[in-house]
Amino acid sequence: MPSAYALNAEQRQVQDLVRRVAREKVAPRANEIDRTAEYPDDMFELLRELGLFALPFPAEYGGMGSTLTACVALEELVRVCYNTGYILAVQWTPFGAILAGGTDEQRKRLLPGLARGELRAAIAVTEPQSGSDVAGITTTAVRTDGGYRLNGSKVWCTGATVADFVLVAAKTGPGGGRGSINLFIVERGTRGFQVGRKEDKTGARGVPSCPLFLDDVHVSEQNRLGEEGKGFKIVMEAFNTARPIHAARGVGLAQGAIDHATEYVKSRRAFGQQVGDFQGVRWMLADMVMQTEAARSLVYRTAAMVDAGVSGAELAPFAAMAKCFATDVAMKVATDAVQLFGAAGISAEYPINRYMRDAKVLQIVEGTNQIQRLVLSAQLIA
Ligand SMILES: Cc1cc2nc3c(=O)[nH]c(=O)nc-3n(C[C@H](O)[C@H](O)[C@H](O)COP(=O)(O)OP(=O)(O)OC[C@H]3O[C@@H](n4cnc5c(N)ncnc54)[C@H](O)[C@@H]3O)c2cc1C
Repeated sequence: MPSAYALNAEQRQVQDLVRRVAREKVAPRANEIDRTAEYPDDMFELLRELGLFALPFPAEYGGMGSTLTACVALEELVRVCYNTGYILAVQWTPFGAILAGGTDEQRKRLLPGLARGELRAAIAVTEPQSGSDVAGITTTAVRTDGGYRLNGSKVWCTGATVADFVLVAAKTGPGGGRGSINLFIVERGTRGFQVGRKEDKTGARGVPSCPLFLDDVHVSEQNRLGEEGKGFKIVMEAFNTARPIHAARGVGLAQGAIDHATEYVKSRRAFGQQVGDFQGVRWMLADMVMQTEAARSLVYRTAAMVDAGVSGAELAPFAAMAKCFATDVAMKVATDAVQLFGAAGISAEYPINRYMRDAKVLQIVEGTNQIQRLVLSAQLIA
């Protein structure tokens, strides 16, 4: 009997297509994107031509309305190039936030462009003094005639240099907690809004992460996402439903590391035999496959829950487990893969150390893995 999350024919078609394109067109670019740390416009164009930006979103935006399909596509891209997959994930976070928390007018104005890849967006929540502790942000949005005046600064806004607009989190109430946070649509070129110099990153190097400076930035009321003081709660729920998508990046990364390590141990010789013939090496590979397959099952199951309409407290522990487990597996598997390469794993001549550097990023972004464990344990001990 097929499980609830077995891929259907359409999903297999997407998987086959993306796998083929990833091998033929994305893989040859992966090392260069990592080395130069330059945003890969050609990969953005490729994703746009394939219509992949719309994938997880409703049919009215040209998508399949399936988180599981989005996971499968992302997995195949990240398997060969973390950065190319990241371009999709960066677009999907603001898309999901607007879909969940935006007004009808905002959805009509922004979502078709994002789905077709004609618009690019980014999201800015993190600040220099506050990352995990979202309630600790200090950027303010003070009411003025017809809108708000935003002041503050952000860090680590990924995709900021290419974004047509950024969803900026700011507090509308004085000294308030999460309840006073709203997201605001800040368009590129708005007076007082500046993108700072990109971080020199260890991983995820192809998509720039930058500080933002907001100095008396005027944002119209129409560009506040959702009702004042309520927008953020809706958006946090949207983040929850997007968690399997980020977890799928961990599965793809681990699978890619296994692919490279398997090839290498078949070609490398030591003590008169191929390295892949040593039992110790085979058992390492077997563990890597087992862990990755377990992560894939959890991620697909969680994605299928999202597609079945499960949300709120029922979804939260699965979303946390999927993100945390899959990205911890990615780190473990990528580190083991480097080990199997020996010294070659440390050399920039081979792609495998890129997997280890990118995996580390995954354990930190979209809610660190400690925060995911907090969410999960809160279900056990209130
Ligand atoms: C490559 C990259 C891209 C990013 N892109 C974006 C983006 O586009 N937009 C955006 O807004 N942000 C982005 N971020 C920021 C990211 O969301 C934060 O780095 C993350 O939320 C952690 O915040 P922090 O770095 O301030 O760590 P802190 O919150 O300062 O945490 C430091 C350490 O303490 C741990 N810790 C904190 N609180 C607890 C707790 N209660 N219990 C146990 N451990 C805890 C953390 O897990 C971490 O290990 C990005 C980060 C990176 C690295």
